[in-house]
Amino acid sequence: MGAEAGGPRGTAPGQQLRALFYALAPGESSFRTVEEVPDYVEKSIPFFITFIGLEFAVSWIQKRKLPGRINDGISSLSLGILSRLPDVLFRSIELISYIHVWNNYRLFELPWDSPWTWYLTLLGVDFAYYFFHRMSHEVNILWAAHQVHHSSEDYNLFTALRQSVLQKYTSWMFNLPMALFIPPSVFAVHLQFNLLYQFWIHTEVITKLGPLEWILNTPSHHRVHHGRNPYCIDKNYGGTLIIWDRIFGTFEAEDAKVVYGLTHPVNSFDPIMLQLRPLAHIWNTFWATPGFCNKLSVIFKGPGWGPGKPRLGLPEEIPVITGKEVPFNPWVPAYLNCYALVHFAVIVDLYIELLASMTMLSQGTVLLRIGFIILSLASFGLLMENKSKAGILEIIRCLVFIVVYKHGHFRSHFPFLGYAYELRVTNGHHGGLPALLPAWAWLAQMELTKQGTKWQNELV
Ligand SMILES: [Zn+2]
Ligand SMILES: [Zn+2]
Repeated sequence: MGAEAGGPRGTAPGQQLRALFYALAPGESSFRTVEEVPDYVEKSIPFFITFIGLEFAVSWIQKRKLPGRINDGISSLSLGILSRLPDVLFRSIELISYIHVWNNYRLFELPWDSPWTWYLTLLGVDFAYYFFHRMSHEVNILWAAHQVHHSSEDYNLFTALRQSVLQKYTSWMFNLPMALFIPPSVFAVHLQFNLLYQFWIHTEVITKLGPLEWILNTPSHHRVHHGRNPYCIDKNYGGTLIIWDRIFGTFEAEDAKVVYGLTHPVNSFDPIMLQLRPLAHIWNTFWATPGFCNKLSVIFKGPGWGPGKPRLGLPEEIPVITGKEVPFNPWVPAYLNCYALVHFAVIVDLYIELLASMTMLSQGTVLLRIGFIILSLASFGLLMENKSKAGILEIIRCLVFIVVYKHGHFRSHFPFLGYAYELRVTNGHHGGLPALLPAWAWLAQMELTKQGTKWQNELV
């Protein structure tokens, strides 16, 4: 799944589309080597964007209601981009560890081109995902990584892309038993299909799917998984199949209206804080809890555990749902929303361009671009929270952009956005407006200062 991936087969648009639904036959998605396996996830980005547009259209037609919000959507996509950045620099740890076990410890080799191996790997990867996902909810240190995916109070296709940077550093070990007999090339295909399948189920526009609900993980089942109603907690861990939940007693059908998000909402759109705050919480609780065994329990028991409580905490401590829950939605001026949207689009473009051209870029340019993307996403998060320091960070970001762009480290994937880049630099060259963007940022800062601590939570 590195830059060199992309085989002769499995990359046509129709196949990419079917990959999102785990609907490729073994014959068209089996490869001899890992290097031949297409990067199905990165090649799905245009489909992600198309489906998000489709969800907005269908939701508007169905309910005259948009399925998401600008602040929450930018936050989810920012987390999605952040989670993929390590893969720009390194081959995925999930693949590195798997290939290491295969090379050194395999017991026997199943044939890579057999449909039986393909179907067995489908089941194996999905069962490993169930087990990993369940542990991610029941073990506090794993939850610290996974909770990022649950931190949205909306439920839409943006939420599907809201992923943790740290999660793959906890999930890799659950796949290793398969490396004793399943070739890495087959595993690398199913690892991606399992992830991609979980994209389309993050929606409210699909209600129920009849008999498919018995076997497959569906939008309805996964809505329950994202709920913070007491009946939803620790339920429906399945990835592609729901049979594991039915077998191991963690299945729950959708019933009362689901209220989404964490039982104790984090109230933040800052993608860096959303990753790090749970770790800080564990660190503080670890030192504040007396006794060595209790300290270990803080790390390895459930997030709701405390001294004297059962392993997964007390169900009665889960806040009841009143139906009056209001999502975190700090007010920002409309023009700032537009500003954030436009600049976020530029960053998405920069990210896509980075993926397309990273093999041709120097390591310095790649690192510079990654650093700028992280800085930008952090700045947008603060902007969406109406934080007073957002304007200052935005000015710094825009100045960094101009300096780096003028030295030729950025380039656009799309001609119309390339024009936007040129516009800024042309302004810089003419000297009339030394920097269009810092001026915008300065205005934003003025507005934020004027607004002070005025917060208004409102449902959109
Ligand atoms: Zn989960
Ligand atoms: Zn989910």
